[in-house]
Amino acid sequence: MQTKYWVVDNYEEKSKGYPQVKKAAAYLIDNEVVAFPTETVYGLGGNALSEEAALKIFQAKGRPADNPLIVHISSKEQVAEVAAEVPQAAKKLMDAFWPGPLTIIFTKQPNRLAEAVTAGLDTVAVRMPNHPVALALIEAAGLPIAAPSANRSGKPSPTAAKHVYDDLNGRIAGIVDGGETGVGVESTVVDCTGETPVILRPGGITKEDIEAVTGAAMLDVALQDHQARPKSPGMKYTHYAPDAPVYLLEGSPEWIQKQIDKMREQGKKVGLLTTEERLSRFEADVVLPCGQREDLSTVAHSLYEVLRSFNETDVDIIYSETFPSEGVGLAVMNRLEKAAGHRWLREKEDS
Ligand code: AMP
Ligand code: MG
Repeated sequence: MQTKYWVVDNYEEKSKGYPQVKKAAAYLIDNEVVAFPTETVYGLGGNALSEEAALKIFQAKGRPADNPLIVHISSKEQVAEVAAEVPQAAKKLMDAFWPGPLTIIFTKQPNRLAEAVTAGLDTVAVRMPNHPVALALIEAAGLPIAAPSANRSGKPSPTAAKHVYDDLNGRIAGIVDGGETGVGVESTVVDCTGETPVILRPGGITKEDIEAVTGAAMLDVALQDHQARPKSPGMKYTHYAPDAPVYLLEGSPEWIQKQIDKMREQGKKVGLLTTEERLSRFEADVVLPCGQREDLSTVAHSLYEVLRSFNETDVDIIYSETFPSEGVGLAVMNRLEKAAGHRWLREKEDS
């Protein structure tokens, strides 16, 4: 398949009445799949009402069929097209955070969405993205758009159109290139079908942000104990992994340097994910800075780009520094733990 590629500068595109976005929307209306930018990561969009389009998304990504898709809408009112009801807590969260990086789980409208989109569940995940190109595209299509991250399953999510191209060129109808994404990690997923909102996946909107609006919020048990069965089907899969194995290192910079040295003495090429503050403290085969430790949102922004960059090097092993699991740090550590398959090395256990 020949993949179309549209480079879109939002300001110019808007002033002309979105000509390229409309071309991309025509493919969506035709039940073809198209990648587009959002404020979190690039999404791979398809008509959420079409079984044919939904299956194309799963096929292009190589995504397991039991992992449901998030439905993207371009206005708050559109939620009524796909959700059976909007509970009070959900309403408050929509008003506070939409458009934005918060996905809400609702009881779904029966007989409306393609079965594959919700993977047979009686709930649906919905989000209104905060990106002008995404909103213009969904509106031009006039449809709810199912869109998982636009990567091959198991790879880090794409934060630039080039990443989408590397993973999916030839497998999808088109790519709308709207530049780099902002948040850098996927949306927070919160289940609002029960009494208290439950966070199933941490993201840019933090537990503290949600509590401030709804009064209470819980974390799914699987976010605290990785042996537990997650309520969100997708959370059980290994994700975000670069080609070389990743290990999470918890300890002082001196100890981390020692671990690097030990590996290199064994003839291994070692990559290190660190932050700008510590860049000059380490010596390894490849040392990549990932944002600033003092502002974890910058770490989230750069995380997938840095994980992908290691694939362009010949390192045998990747060591990563770790971060406090607070605020957006919870999302960063959740993604890093998955990239590492929960492999940790800790100074306090190393004697
Ligand atoms: P992605 O689109 O690749 O960011 O993945 C979407 C995430 O939302 C996955 O972790 C899914 O398991 C989760 N998700 C989608 N729909 C539902 C649902 N109805 N209930 C719970 N989790 C969902
Ligand atoms: Mg994904």
